[in-house]
Amino acid sequence: MDEKKFSLPRSLVPGEQLNCRAARAPCVATLPTHDHDVPSRRRIFSKETSLIATPTSAISLALRQAVIRASMTILGLALYWLLGMQDLHSLNKAAGFALFANAGLAGLQLLRCSRRLVAGAALAINSLVLLNATIEGFLFWLYGLAPKHIVVADAILGSNPNEVREFIESYWPHLALVTLLLTGLVALLYWVERKSQRAAGAAPVTRRRDRWLGSALFVLFAALHLNTTMADENPLVYWPSYFSDYQVQRAFLADVKRKVASDLVAARRYQTAYTGPARQTLVLVLGESVNRSNWSLYGYPRKTTPALDARHEDMLVFKHVRSSDATTIQSLMKMLTPATLDRPDAWLTEPNVLALARTAGYHVTWLSNQEQGDGPIQILAEHANEQIFVNKGRGRASRSLDELLLPQLDRVLAGPAPRKLVIVHMQGGHLRYDLRYPAAFDKFSGADDAVTAALVKAGRPYWIRKARNDYDNAMLYTDHVIAAIFQKARQSASSGASSGAPFSVVYVSDHGQEVGHYRNFAGHSATDPSGYDVPLLLWTTRQDPSTLAMRAALQEREYRTDKLDHTLLGLLDIRTSFYQPQNDVLSGQFAAATRP
Ligand SMILES: [Zn+2]
Repeated sequence: MDEKKFSLPRSLVPGEQLNCRAARAPCVATLPTHDHDVPSRRRIFSKETSLIATPTSAISLALRQAVIRASMTILGLALYWLLGMQDLHSLNKAAGFALFANAGLAGLQLLRCSRRLVAGAALAINSLVLLNATIEGFLFWLYGLAPKHIVVADAILGSNPNEVREFIESYWPHLALVTLLLTGLVALLYWVERKSQRAAGAAPVTRRRDRWLGSALFVLFAALHLNTTMADENPLVYWPSYFSDYQVQRAFLADVKRKVASDLVAARRYQTAYTGPARQTLVLVLGESVNRSNWSLYGYPRKTTPALDARHEDMLVFKHVRSSDATTIQSLMKMLTPATLDRPDAWLTEPNVLALARTAGYHVTWLSNQEQGDGPIQILAEHANEQIFVNKGRGRASRSLDELLLPQLDRVLAGPAPRKLVIVHMQGGHLRYDLRYPAAFDKFSGADDAVTAALVKAGRPYWIRKARNDYDNAMLYTDHVIAAIFQKARQSASSGASSGAPFSVVYVSDHGQEVGHYRNFAGHSATDPSGYDVPLLLWTTRQDPSTLAMRAALQEREYRTDKLDHTLLGLLDIRTSFYQPQNDVLSGQFAAATRP
């Protein structure tokens, strides 16, 4: 298009605008804008068209600048995503924050803050958002770790100058690349800001409604910080809280170490004794969010556990087991310690199974595909001789498939210790179900079968039916991983140093899951039976007469998982005052638990 065609007469260009300003009248709006004549690439910055590009009011100027700033920042974030340094979820959050922050700054501008000041603040905040993304992206790229991870926090905040130098020497190409990327993006932000300032020309008059809108935008931005997820996207909030969280976490872990040390000393005082053969292994597999009624092993119409179904004669399949709680921490703390529903705090003062096993001469390993946390479960894990966390991503928010546990399990089982207790903590069927299985196990998506028909009949909406299909895929994959663990147990029990020694595998889930079984809901449920219906399996080479002869009767026993510690102590052949045979589901003296 010919430029001349849309140039305005000289007298109408900057002069007209100046006159208006002199008169303090908002008459800029009366000038012709001819926006439709302007080629889009010239609208924003071009000096010659500055009048045309000049917004006709303070509002449109402020908003236009906010949109430009936010767009540039989001483009930068998108670049990190394209480079694989950022996932879509993080991108969305950071982009959302950039939008709100720039709108808030537009609000300040409308409140008659100096435009230069607002421009400087915008440049600073948008650069910090990009710096944040750079640090996160860099860590994810290099280590596959989230920055909140204690390992990363330790590396960032706990290293000495030597380690820093070593780090720079090892990773300078990576550091140089991300520094260059960030510098380029910030330079681009700066260039665009200057261009946009020049193109904006003189400040339009702010009217009362502008100030109202300005206040609203700023308040909206401030209110955003009430949402902790969004507040965390503000680098000025995130990094100070990161530092204080780290201090808290350090202090907590120091306390944990003290507690673990005193627990182990205490457990020795309890005069624990080992009464079994010289060599013995127990693998305790802790499932996650697994509702047994979604297993074909327990009669579910979909074939979700083909591998376990094929082997069901080899193991005990307990039919009436319920978890004490519907959430992970509460349930596991009762399973592995003397704590029960009646005495939920007993784990603080009495020794857990790991501590007792250690004092009875077991080598204890905690092998987990869950995130290394800083809560009670970490206290349990710290009681092990060895902790292995295979989940290097963002815990349950990441696709960290349970098969990652298998090579580590091989290594642990091949270890020299004569007595081994291995606790394997899976991700199983925890939300998000769609992240819990690889594509090869996507068997039930879009299934047109009896389960779908029943869900439709019960009035379950599409999203629940989809969640159920994803969940069943996750169950199919869980079956595959458990069967692989049983297979390893069989191999280990019949070959190698521990050949012929007793070997047991217990599988139990921490709690169940409601996925449209009783209502239109998918997740942990403390109010539906589905939140507590868990599978319990035992495969063992032990020849306890009470175990195999009573197979049918044992499988019918009603049991609650807060008593599981007694069954484990029995299987581990540990004699201790904390063992109560009436709570050991395999014992001849077992007395059925009252249902919760
Ligand atoms: Zn759980």
